[in-house]
Amino acid sequence: MVEQTREPIIGVLGHVDHGKTTLLDYIRSSVVASREAGGITQHIGATDVPFEVIEELCQGMVDKSKIKIPLRGLLFIDTPGHEAFINLRRRGGSVADLAILVVDMNEGIKPQTLESIEILKQYKTPFVVAASKVDQVMGWQAGVKIKEQLPRTQEEFNNRIYKLIGDLSTKGFDCDLYYNIQDFSKTVAVIPVSGRTGDGVKELLMMLIGLAQTYLVGKLTVGLDSPAKGTILEVKETKGLGTTMDAIIYDGTIHVNDSIVVAAREPIVTKVKALLRPRALDEMRDPKKQFKSVRSVYAASGVKIVALNLEKAMPGGPIYVGGRELVEKVKEEIGEVEFERDDLGVIVKADTLGSLEAMVKILEGEDIPVRRGNIGKIVKQDIMEASAVATENKYLGVVLAFNVTVLPDAATMSNDIDIPIIASKVIYQIIDDYKEWAAKKKDEERRAIAKCVATPAKMKILPDHIFRQSKPAIVGVEVLAGTLRSGCRLMRQDGKVAGRIREMQAQGEKIEQAKMGEKVAVSIDDVVIGRHIDQGDVLYTFLTNEDTAMLNADDLTDDEKQVLHEIKHAKKGRI
Ligand code: GDP
Repeated sequence: MVEQTREPIIGVLGHVDHGKTTLLDYIRSSVVASREAGGITQHIGATDVPFEVIEELCQGMVDKSKIKIPLRGLLFIDTPGHEAFINLRRRGGSVADLAILVVDMNEGIKPQTLESIEILKQYKTPFVVAASKVDQVMGWQAGVKIKEQLPRTQEEFNNRIYKLIGDLSTKGFDCDLYYNIQDFSKTVAVIPVSGRTGDGVKELLMMLIGLAQTYLVGKLTVGLDSPAKGTILEVKETKGLGTTMDAIIYDGTIHVNDSIVVAAREPIVTKVKALLRPRALDEMRDPKKQFKSVRSVYAASGVKIVALNLEKAMPGGPIYVGGRELVEKVKEEIGEVEFERDDLGVIVKADTLGSLEAMVKILEGEDIPVRRGNIGKIVKQDIMEASAVATENKYLGVVLAFNVTVLPDAATMSNDIDIPIIASKVIYQIIDDYKEWAAKKKDEERRAIAKCVATPAKMKILPDHIFRQSKPAIVGVEVLAGTLRSGCRLMRQDGKVAGRIREMQAQGEKIEQAKMGEKVAVSIDDVVIGRHIDQGDVLYTFLTNEDTAMLNADDLTDDEKQVLHEIKHAKKGRI
């Protein structure tokens, strides 16, 4: 086998507007402007910065004596952000060998910064922190070293950067300014940069080369003549070509006419019709620009693959050169991410395999159990399943959705039966919203319980009005005296506790209370009709001795006084 060392693949993450695109654009334009640019290979979805370009940009800063692995260069993934990063998945890890976490040094840590850190931890991806927009520090002079800036500027710089370093350290990793670091395997390097002025960019590139030397020895060797392995970045319609697939190849070589197996619920076996690369690096974002067809592509590369039947290909999923023998392997791999269990848990929907995997892992890290995770739009079945979960555990009866659409009938059903869909493009937002929802629900319940303590009430289960036997039991009742409130515990005439009212409805509408003479439907937790209670039974609200002691006789109506008397009597009967 012919082996060679491929470029490390580098992803860029961070909060929106913190300068990721500007930084990448600066790096890209430096490559284009470089004298070495002539022989550069163009990529789809990625930018190759050859080692010669880094050497030229870094003007003598590269210490060749420290280079343990000869790197051809660095391959930057063009689309920054956690959404793109989580799709750079491969079985058990990330396709990105290294990452740049961009944090605006003037703004500090934001929600998507935290999410990015979580994702990097999850994938165990070594990274550096680019403390961006350093040119916004007051009095900053472009191209001047930090230690040669004006004293006031240095002071402000220090205030901001050490605040950021302190905040990042509280998130569980040691970090420091890159020039203070002795051991890069213990401390994360923070490099102040500006994508506007280019300050710090060459230091950033140097740090990435250094990180590769620290972490990637032995990990970048690929078989040049072995069948390619890759990850699907995006599946899209390309004018004149039909459905195509942008992929990152991280191992081996792919040729036109190769048979490939592509991730999909039913893995696709197809044949490569064409491999496309963009014509020119600086025109890569121009959609009208024609692609260039090549015969083969080897790792590490970004390439557009043209083949038949790619419509259902799953972004974030694998693509392997090979035949039907690989179908089971791909199925298995997808099955590790898309799953269904019998356990009680939330339903998770996501748009790609990468986002689903990231979300499930983060939820599990937060001790939120997941019953089912799969890719695709939210359908009625999702709401129905969450509703079934809610009958057993109401805090888990919810659908959590990352970047997916909700079909109208599912949305209607969600409203009708009060099973929420919590959706966002930020995983942490979903988790925060879910926690808030669960806390609110618990609080409502506590308050409902507190509210009903003081209200003696009596009701009768109406004959022929048993709608459901259990979990929860649903029956029609008539309030015989007092006011019945949802959340109340109930008691039989013999003084035995008989469940708790979960919800009440009248004419199909949810109600919080029902007064004497009203006929309503109630759902009752923790009882089984026919075993604990039955049609025709008279039930009371259950009051503890403390509850009774708290009641003020002046606040009670005559019928409530009478019911309270009966309740006390029944309880005595129990003892
Ligand atoms: P992204 O959402 O992280 O990709 O952020 P962008 O690169 O799109 O930048 C967001 C805004 O910040 C834009 O208005 C940029 O012009 C500005 N910006 C980005 N980098 C810098 C920088 O280094 N210095 C300054 N002054 N502004 C920047």
